[in-house]
Amino acid sequence: MSLDELVWRLGGAARASADWVTLKAGLRLVRPASPRCCRNVGFPVVDADSAEFRRIYAGAPSAWRDKLLRGAERLASHRLDIFDIVVKWQNEISWHSDYANHKRAPERFATLVDYREFDVVGDCKLVWEVNRHHHWVVLARAYYVSGDVRFAEEVIAQYKSWRGQNRFYFGMNWCSPLELGVRLINWVWAFDMIRDVDGFEAIRDDVCYAIQQHCWYVSRFQSKASSANNHLIGEAAGLFVAASYLPDLPLAKQWIREARAILEQQIQAQSYGDGCTREHAFGYQFFVIQFFVICGVVAKKTGADFSPQYWARLEKMMGFLITLGRAHGSPPLLGDCDDGYVLNLGDHPHDWRSVAKVGSALFGRNDWADAAEDRESAVWLLAGSAAAAAQAPGPAATPSIESQAFVESGYYLLSGSDPSGKSISVLFDCAELGFGALAAHGHADALSLVVSWDNQPVLVDTGTYDYFSYPEWRNYFRTTRAHNTLEVDGLDQSVMSGPFMWSSRARARCSEWMPRQDGGRVIGEHDGYSRLPGSVRHRRTVDVTTTTGVVEVVDELVGAGVHEVRRYFHFDPQWEIVDRSESTVVLRAGSRLVSLTAPRSQLSVLEPTEVAGPGWVSSAYHRKARCVSIVAIDKVDGSASPLRAQVRLGNVGSMR
Ligand SMILES: [Zn+2]
Repeated sequence: MSLDELVWRLGGAARASADWVTLKAGLRLVRPASPRCCRNVGFPVVDADSAEFRRIYAGAPSAWRDKLLRGAERLASHRLDIFDIVVKWQNEISWHSDYANHKRAPERFATLVDYREFDVVGDCKLVWEVNRHHHWVVLARAYYVSGDVRFAEEVIAQYKSWRGQNRFYFGMNWCSPLELGVRLINWVWAFDMIRDVDGFEAIRDDVCYAIQQHCWYVSRFQSKASSANNHLIGEAAGLFVAASYLPDLPLAKQWIREARAILEQQIQAQSYGDGCTREHAFGYQFFVIQFFVICGVVAKKTGADFSPQYWARLEKMMGFLITLGRAHGSPPLLGDCDDGYVLNLGDHPHDWRSVAKVGSALFGRNDWADAAEDRESAVWLLAGSAAAAAQAPGPAATPSIESQAFVESGYYLLSGSDPSGKSISVLFDCAELGFGALAAHGHADALSLVVSWDNQPVLVDTGTYDYFSYPEWRNYFRTTRAHNTLEVDGLDQSVMSGPFMWSSRARARCSEWMPRQDGGRVIGEHDGYSRLPGSVRHRRTVDVTTTTGVVEVVDELVGAGVHEVRRYFHFDPQWEIVDRSESTVVLRAGSRLVSLTAPRSQLSVLEPTEVAGPGWVSSAYHRKARCVSIVAIDKVDGSASPLRAQVRLGNVGSMR
């Protein structure tokens, strides 16, 4: 543990002890602001007031409006969908419960709750998800667009229930500052949209006090040292949004100043100049972009905008995902992904077109406006004059997809068109494992590749699946063999030392990059196996020719000694095997075929079992589907002849 880490942890423990003594003595840690301070709101979350909004959207045929109202009705009948479970309740939600594992976390002093202790608290992520209150924003939006007060009253009833069960500083819902940050943003959005409802007046001052308590706690316990990743961004964002919303709170100016400094600093510190974020986990890139966009929009509304450098980096970050989204149909979610998001504004949290839609409005980017279809997030975030613009058809044509290097972060995109004009894209990973001391959200995926064709996935990253409930699966999805790369002597290229930690990391780099109009060639290598006898390095060459639909992969072990090499290939679940011989497997999806050939090697199909291992793809948290996973096993002697594999894409009838 570093000195910074030690100081931060000891400081937190000391502050918590002092707070416990204060509370035990019956004293208050946070003095409630005067009701006057709770009356003045710093900005409306939707620029068009509810009457104007209803006038624009109530009568308009809109797929999102109908879906929103259906969702709100389901919530009003006390059904809440979380990952793969449905939370149902009669009168009140049990806010401390893991509904999947039927456990209820104890309501002890927050710093004495160990959220990782599964036997005691259940799966913390499942408990916390409900308490982020995303669903209150769904109810509030439904009220805003329909005027149906039942939805607003449901939010008020649930708020009272939550306050009744969640004493300040006690229990699961006060032990992670990130959770408080996300909750704050959801509260501001939900309460602002329902504040004209009769019942709101009765809870207004208490909401104001609860927001004060949240801000105080986040400011006191913000993540530092090894934890200063997306958590710190989310905490600062919550503090910034809430303090900007109630600017007359006694400490609001200080909180805004503090949060703004963190956000300005972290947007640079946690991303590369090419727009990729340093956690090397693209699901988290969507997450932090939401925080930065929301804070940026709030800052503009309150007339205290962020710096041009902030906006320039945010534009790059959005551009990174938009480029990958356009090339692959949807950005492949490399690294960890827990499906976390900030606000439910109607679109899927990983909808790159929604990012493009909002980005095109924020930055005036016509080249992003091809995501012109109805994107609900843009309506809610930019409603008012911008909302009308968001509804208009986009003026720009789809830009062509080209090979592109993200040199700083280490990702290489090889793209072009097949003979029928359909795109083929390959993303090659020469990136480092992850961010900071922990690399908490990285996967051992160096030199892996993902392949898509006509915006459909072919070779895929197998996903994440779980953090806390299934430790074996948590480990498997981070291993080298869960990725389209190779394993030496049955070992991972990077070594795990815990569910969010690594004791040794493969260092990857790109040694050659030759893009062409029809794909190109890239060579990368990593030193993850230099710990083995013979100190071997893995070098991989990927050569893509989109006009012939061929992806060549050549692997070499540079070093000495005899080693067993396993090359893995994981196909999206839509692909099924239709033919196979010793060194070739042919798969089909609809009218499309793909063949995988490894000359002079034997290909084996790895059957999925209930034991954590290949044969599975997880496209969402706690959901997994069977897939075709193939391995080629070879013995390699030193720097002997390289191992070759070829992936060919073609339609039925066009392939030999
Ligand atoms: Zn992965």
